[in-house]
Amino acid sequence: ENSGTDPKNLRVKLVLLGDSGVGKSCIVLRFVRGQFDPTSKVTVGASFLSQTLALEDSTTVKFEIWDTAGQERYAALAPLYYRGAGAAIVVYDITSSESFNKAQYWVKELQKHGSPDMIMALVGNKADLHDNRSVSSQDAQEYAERNTMFFIETSAKTADNINQLFEEIAKRLPRPTP
Ligand code: GDP
Ligand code: MG
Repeated sequence: ENSGTDPKNLRVKLVLLGDSGVGKSCIVLRFVRGQFDPTSKVTVGASFLSQTLALEDSTTVKFEIWDTAGQERYAALAPLYYRGAGAAIVVYDITSSESFNKAQYWVKELQKHGSPDMIMALVGNKADLHDNRSVSSQDAQEYAERNTMFFIETSAKTADNINQLFEEIAKRLPRPTP
């Protein structure tokens, strides 16, 4: 949910979901710090980071980003994690069809337990590894459309489409009526 009441300065809780190793933490670090650390292990950085984005219409959006600390490896994430989230990024790795199947599982979880007006993005990460692609853009695009999500392919390594991902989410957030 959008907890702010000021229509020019929005604030939103954003959660990341997806298989372990698909690049969730790297996407966050690329967006928040502009960095990519190829040596980083499973869980990089803090589990909570925030970043403010200024949009062209002079509104700002403060993302309060909840990254998992690797819990996605062990069990279903507690619905507590996505409670109150106004936006969710579901990530898979374009070289792993298994991770795409897992992404679909997370989408179902969000549809069951998340807020019905949550903005959901389907993200095919590691787009720089296109020579080893095993999930077609078209399949992912069609799946996203069927589930009222938007779809984008990113690379946390090259920074390709990372800012665009967060801008698209920001544009879709409901604006509070003043
Ligand atoms: P998480 O478990 O989903 O948080 O995944 P991480 O962010 O920890 O990343 C897992 C591994 O994938 C790390 O070795 C990263 O260096 C690598 N990685 C993450 N994003 C990319 C990317 O866009 N391209 C490539 N080639 N590797 C990536
Ligand atoms: Mg991680």
